[in-house]
Amino acid sequence: MATLAPYKEAAQIIEEEGGEALKLCYQCGLCTAVCPWNRVTSFTPRKLIHQAQLGLVDFEHDEVWRCVSCKLCVDRCPRGVRVMDIMRALRRVIVEVGAGITPDALRLSMKNTSGVGNPLGEEREKRTDWVKELGVKTFTKGTEILYFPCCYQIYDPFGKRVARAAVNIMKKAGVDFGMLGAEVSCCGESMRKAGSESIFQNLVQSNISAFAEAGVRKIVVTSPHCYHTFTEEYPEFGGDFEVIHFVQYLSELLREGKLEFTKKLNKKVTYHDSCCLGRYAGLYDEPRQVLESIPGLELVEMRENREHALCCGGCAGRFWMETKKGERWSDLRIAQAIEVEANVLAVACPYCMLNFQDSLLSPEWGDALELKDIAQLVEEAM
Ligand code: SF4
Ligand code: SF4
Repeated sequence: MATLAPYKEAAQIIEEEGGEALKLCYQCGLCTAVCPWNRVTSFTPRKLIHQAQLGLVDFEHDEVWRCVSCKLCVDRCPRGVRVMDIMRALRRVIVEVGAGITPDALRLSMKNTSGVGNPLGEEREKRTDWVKELGVKTFTKGTEILYFPCCYQIYDPFGKRVARAAVNIMKKAGVDFGMLGAEVSCCGESMRKAGSESIFQNLVQSNISAFAEAGVRKIVVTSPHCYHTFTEEYPEFGGDFEVIHFVQYLSELLREGKLEFTKKLNKKVTYHDSCCLGRYAGLYDEPRQVLESIPGLELVEMRENREHALCCGGCAGRFWMETKKGERWSDLRIAQAIEVEANVLAVACPYCMLNFQDSLLSPEWGDALELKDIAQLVEEAM
């Protein structure tokens, strides 16, 4: 068993990133009681925190990779302990100090991101290939908005539909926007949460330089993960620009009368709050306002919604790791959507989208539920 004690550097990392949180925890166990892992298997964040307090973490155990940073326990903890900061520090000890083994799939995503600027290992030059046919201009000084999609919305054929919808909506609404290609890279949010602080910081520095050089002041993103890191983490490295998630932007366009709907969508829709947009940023109303403005659409709520929403299970690097059938939170969430007889599950996050898409491949769900990003539903109704 690899423990903290022999690793001086590791102890420093824990102190830097999770030290304060470790001092606050008084071992009440509420975090364990609410953690969704315990609906499908067993996981004791309280125990891991205690081991970290004692410097006796078993870095070879796969528990260190469990926490998805969903923040559900943080909001319940009587001491407000940022559990995910402690978990991130423990993973950093494995990834950067070598105290344990980084799962293969995660190591590959890290290698790809560090090498070519995206976790899929795709060519940098292809970042904006697909938008040429849509007539999107290159961002230059004076352009009002930089549109920055997530890497999955750039390269993945399914994810790409969302970025296309966002582009089409902005074009129809007459927005002055452009995109940057090979000069920018992945935002790096998942790299940091998965424990690779050095890759994260390299990405931050190169993106901040590219934005500054291009004269970027305002960025619209279609991923809550880009939103979180650009608003909460980039400023500590000098990032200084306004960031808006697309659901906020849609609600702004709606207020200004720039979204014109020409079709009715007679669908019963339920919305899944992603953790980064919901518990992290408190953006609960904007997505619902946009959905409710679509003619014909009926919005219904799942049992666990807004601040109580169940995570899809894909944050903090879990997205790249295999989760056994029977342990996938996305399956539990699909069941909640079906329970309220929705025919569409609406999302606003690429990780949620791809996790639910995987779950829906299972024959048990049949074709009862369609999966759409809010941008796709708005585009459909325009
Ligand atoms: S809920 Fe908070 S104080 Fe209680 S064990 Fe978990 S982290 Fe510690
Ligand atoms: S942040 Fe979420 S996944 Fe992590 S320990 Fe807390 S409840 Fe569990």
